[in-house]
Amino acid sequence: MAHDHEEFEVEGARLNTWSNRSGTQSCRPHVVTHPWSLRGLQFEIEAARKHNQRLRIAGAGHADTALCVTDGRLLTLRNYQGVVSVDRQRYRVRVRGGTSLGALGKALADKGLALSGIGGLESQTIAGAVSGGSLATLPTSGLIAKQVTAFRLLLASGEEIECSRSTHSDIFELGRVNLGALGIVTELELQCVPAYNLELIAESRPLDEALAALKTHDANAGGLTLSWSVHAARAGLVRATRTQTRADPAAGHTLPAALATGVRWLAARFPQQATWWLPEPAPAERRVLAATDALGRRSLLPRLRCSCFVPRESLGATVEALKPLLRRSTAATHARLDVTPVIADSLPLSPAHGGDVYYLRLGANRGADQLTLFELARQTMTEHGGRPDWAAWPDGDPAAFDEVADLDAFGCLQARLDPEGLFLNTWLSRLLRRSRGVD
Ligand SMILES: Cc1cc2nc3c(=O)[nH]c(=O)nc-3n(C[C@H](O)[C@H](O)[C@H](O)COP(=O)(O)OP(=O)(O)OC[C@H]3O[C@@H](n4cnc5c(N)ncnc54)[C@H](O)[C@@H]3O)c2cc1C
Repeated sequence: MAHDHEEFEVEGARLNTWSNRSGTQSCRPHVVTHPWSLRGLQFEIEAARKHNQRLRIAGAGHADTALCVTDGRLLTLRNYQGVVSVDRQRYRVRVRGGTSLGALGKALADKGLALSGIGGLESQTIAGAVSGGSLATLPTSGLIAKQVTAFRLLLASGEEIECSRSTHSDIFELGRVNLGALGIVTELELQCVPAYNLELIAESRPLDEALAALKTHDANAGGLTLSWSVHAARAGLVRATRTQTRADPAAGHTLPAALATGVRWLAARFPQQATWWLPEPAPAERRVLAATDALGRRSLLPRLRCSCFVPRESLGATVEALKPLLRRSTAATHARLDVTPVIADSLPLSPAHGGDVYYLRLGANRGADQLTLFELARQTMTEHGGRPDWAAWPDGDPAAFDEVADLDAFGCLQARLDPEGLFLNTWLSRLLRRSRGVD
């Protein structure tokens, strides 16, 4: 295949290490490329095969699990972005895989559309969020992959195929959450809804009361997220619903988020003094936010997350078991536990497969105390039936994912589409070997 240098943006071979956004995963790829075209992407596959190298795909690199690391070739779709087409009658949009969630939200808003579930960070790519099993948390919680109606996959053979309920339906069914192990997701078709704003109503309650409110909440009626800063006696509850009411002009302002970051930094630096001045959650607040302002922005402070999906019936016991661990930890001044109900789905590889669950996300500033805390928290959450989040299980052993639905069928599909394991790395190879019972 001819190779045109204009198809590529190339980073030096073995000059740089690549690391994920939080700095927890790093590697020294032979080369990192950012192709501009389908031809450029195909060339990367060809080059990897020719030189007998592996090829991994990174989105924006937010995953804290070892999903993207490789010593072979690494490519991103940061130059392969944008809306391809809009079907206004069916509220569907087709976008390139490297489009960031922030850019996607703005492009949809311009066309009077929005995703039905919004989640994560502005900088995440849509292909990374779908492939890595990211969760949309607003206004209700569910995997972003649920909104995909079709995707295009560039296979190890160099062929690009369309996958939907009617074409290559087996790949569509098994491969929306694909961990970048089946090929390169070049385009996605997403089911959208008419544009909306979000009404967020915040209140604070004692932790036990807040947990009780969560348990009786009907997740189909709207979103409800509990946020408990571990030092605090009370937890914040935020209810989210769609509205057509105009957004408050200052609602998307970043100052409160920046202040919270500053407070957490101070609390981590001066934990002894922090106990008497750390704030409790604000008592009550109502605001209307444009859907485009609901995504998180990159924090100046490296925060690490450890997330798990626990069965509905285990929520109380899991939080009770976590409480003493969290309170005793030296990370207690800056650690925060977020809990949100997630409606069951039937997506293979989804942590919400087959039953309603709660998503538990423990966040803390990066540091030695946080690593110990995460190790204990991981153990506690899995002991209570928790299924780990693909992208937020730092230092996670692939064995933690043994219970994931349809992992064996996914492994068979991977072996069929990519028999030489071009798109695998050590972590994924181990995961899939385990699914076949040979690890
Ligand atoms: C502060 C913070 C908050 C977060 N909050 C949430 C949250 O609320 N809910 C949640 O679920 N997650 C959350 N995450 C995790 C994040 O959503 C996931 O890590 C997500 O996958 C990141 O998207 P990305 O573009 O960075 O993908 P990456 O992390 O770069 O990649 C994720 C996976 O997708 C694959 N991939 C990427 N692009 C392609 C492609 N074109 N084709 C095939 N495979 C591809 C990669 O190989 C990898 O397996 C959060 C992360 C951070 C840092």
